[in-house]
Formats: sequence, structure tokens, C-alpha cells
Amino acid sequence: MKINIIGGGPAGMYFAILMKKADAAHEITIYERNGPDDTFGWGVVFSGKTLANLREADGESHSEITRDFEAWDNVDVVHRDQKISIHGNSFSGIARLRLLKILQRRCEELGVRINFRTEIPNLDSLSQGCDLLVGADGVNSTVRQKFADKFKPDLSIRPNKYVWYGTNKLFHGLTLTFRENDAGVFIAHSYKFNRTTSTFIVECDPQTWSNAGFGGMSDKEARAYLENAFTDDLNGHPLLSNNSKWINFVLVKNASWHYQNVVLLGDALHTAHFSIGSGTKLAMEDAIGLKQCFDETADAGQALRRFEKVRKPVIEDYQAAAYESMLWFENARRYIHLSPIELAYSLMKRSGRVDDEELRKRDSKFVARYEKQSPSTDYVDFTD
Ligand SMILES: Cc1cc2nc3c(=O)[nH]c(=O)nc-3n(C[C@H](O)[C@H](O)[C@H](O)COP(=O)(O)OP(=O)(O)OC[C@H]3O[C@@H](n4cnc5c(N)ncnc54)[C@H](O)[C@@H]3O)c2cc1C
Repeated sequence: MKINIIGGGPAGMYFAILMKKADAAHEITIYERNGPDDTFGWGVVFSGKTLANLREADGESHSEITRDFEAWDNVDVVHRDQKISIHGNSFSGIARLRLLKILQRRCEELGVRINFRTEIPNLDSLSQGCDLLVGADGVNSTVRQKFADKFKPDLSIRPNKYVWYGTNKLFHGLTLTFRENDAGVFIAHSYKFNRTTSTFIVECDPQTWSNAGFGGMSDKEARAYLENAFTDDLNGHPLLSNNSKWINFVLVKNASWHYQNVVLLGDALHTAHFSIGSGTKLAMEDAIGLKQCFDETADAGQALRRFEKVRKPVIEDYQAAAYESMLWFENARRYIHLSPIELAYSLMKRSGRVDDEELRKRDSKFVARYEKQSPSTDYVDFTD
């Protein structure tokens, strides 16, 4: 097969690797507008289950990815200067750039051609000159826009503002830190992803953002403001910028996932709020799912129909959980009056996917502490 892929992120490269591995005769070309060392952001996380999927799909890249992974099992919730740790949540972190480098090397090794610094020239000629065109070109996908009348995308721009920084302060575990000041409520999502660096995402509602005056601040001023807001958490470590900008999360869905020989993959196809840390996982598992459909048939039309049929319900389920999680963070002001243990409990149950039994299985001491310290579960209104 001749396969053209737009976008050399995790979705595009991983799909190329799996297809080339399955049949070395496939002719696969990736068009990536950035250079091999350019990337936004800091670290990404995977769950233990995703790693098992990656090991099964490609042992070589899996062992490289896991070689110097930073692993943890705790979620730490920091509220009113108290840290509550909840164990039994197995996750690992890796720098996005390192992940991309591993996938680039693996592509090279297998003979996948990557044309860096190439903005897709002409989509029509690219889709006509191949058996399969994959739009793995991220959240602002050009492929999705070009065939918008076929894919029927539904894009919802969410109200909260967030910015993705790094820091050399090491957060051992997924740490969710709540800080209030005159402007409102700030939440940091942080975790270390190598021996020296942590991701530090700051999120706040639009009112807090405008009260703080971020609209008129330079990047340096914004970082100084947030270093002050999180001074007790950063212990003097500065926030590091990597072209970091305040943005709004865009929730992406598509009514149809393919058109003729064109299919979308990863963030181009769907997004899930970063608070459940699953964008890269979903992108790579999409690649596994699509490749498996080509194991069953070489007919692109049939494979794409099957991909949508099998994968869509899985994604819809994920998006539903991520949606609840996103709403919780958008409404954080409603929960900020809770005591630290109540806030932590509410947070752990926010997606609706973790019930008391599951929480008890993960960390029975935490549940016992919550039951002891919370006056009565009826008293805590988590849903208003
Ligand atoms: C703040 C934040 C935190 C996140 N945290 C996590 C996390 O903890 N864990 C996690 O798993 N995920 C996380 N993600 C999500 C993750 O970064 C994405 O979901 C993931 O990278 C999706 O992979 P992708 O390959 O679909 O898209 P991308 O990684 O976006 O790759 C798309 C590629 O296409 C290229 N491209 C775009 N347009 C064109 C064009 N016209 N021509 C040529 N090339 C083009 C881009 O340069 C890019 O390299 C986070 C995202 C954000 C914003």
C-alpha cells in the first residue's frame, strides 16, 4: 500500500511504525511541518494499561520508552497548605520530545520516510496519489477542515484558560495544587517526567484570568505572577517557558471518521481534557486500532469503516469521562470551600468512573480517613 500521513506526532508516527512493521513493502511517507527537534510542551503521561498495549504492539519502541520512565502511583492533592496523597494510581511520565525522538528513530529504522519542515503541499494530489491518506495533524487539523462537510466536526472551545510550563522542582506523583488569591482560584497540574524536570500546567477560570490581568502581561510577567501564586509549591524554582501560551481547551468530535480513502487519527479526530492525561495514549491506541483493521483486510474502505465501528464507542466512553473531569475543573470555585480531604475525595470521583469500591481498592486508608474526617457524606454537595 502507498500511505501518506500528514503530521509527525505520536499518532502519525506510531501508525506508520505499526504498518511498516506489518509489511515492509508498504510505501509510507509522513509530512511534518516542524523540524525533528521542535516541539511544544513538556512531559506526557501513560497509565500501566497503555504501556501493556504499547508493549504488545511494538516491543522495540516500548522498551526504549520505558527505559528511563518516571513512574509513580500517587495522586497528591494540595489544598490550604495540606497535602493529601491517594495511592493505587499507576502512571508514568516521559518528555514529549524524547517520545518523538524514539518514534522518529524507529520510523527511520523501518524505512518510513519523514519529510520534515514540509507543510502539506496540496491535499488533493496527496489523497489521490495513494491508497490511504491519514490526517494525524493535531487539534487544528487541516485535513479535517478540508473535508469538513464529510467529517462534520463538532468543536467546542471551553471557557477555562490554561498554560503548559515546566519547572525543575520535582513533583513525585500527579500533583493537583489549589491556590486562591484576590483574583480567584488557580490550579496546577504537575508531575515529573525525567530526573530534572516536571510539567507544570496552570488552569483558571476566565474571571480569575481577567482579574489577574494576564491579557496585558508578557510571558515573563505571567510567569512571575504565577511563581508568586505558587510560591509555597515551587520552593524558589522558576517556571520554564517553551513557547508557552495561555490557551482554551478545544473539545473535538467528528460525526464521521473517514471519507473515501481519508481518515483522521489522534487529536485531529478527538480530544479529551488534559486532566485525565490521555491525549497521547488515545493517539497511539488509535494507531494500534487502525492497524488492526488493516490486519483483517487490505481494502481501505472496509478497514476504515471497521475502525470507526470498533473504535468510536471506546473514544465516546473516554470523552464522556474526560468531560465530567473537565467540568469539575471549570467549576473549581464551587469546591474550593471543601476541606482538603473532601476536595481530594470529590476530585478522585469527578469523572464518574471511580466509585467508592474502586477507590477503596486503590487506597483503603484514604477512604477510611475521608469517612472519619468528613462530618457526613450528605453534607458535601459535590454537584451543585
Ligand atoms: C496542556 C496539555 C497537556 C497535555 N498533557 C498530556 C498528558 O499528560 N498526557 C498525554 O498523553 N497527552 C497530553 N496532552 C495531549 C497531547 O499532547 C496530544 O493529545 C497528543 O500529542 C496527540 O497526538 P497527535 O499525534 O494526534 O497530535 P500532535 O502531537 O499535535 O501532532 C500533530 C503533528 O502534525 C503536525 N502538523 C499539523 N498541521 C500540519 C500540516 N498542515 N502539515 C504538516 N504537519 C502538520 C504538527 O506539527 C504536529 O507535529 C496534553 C496536551 C496539552 C495541550
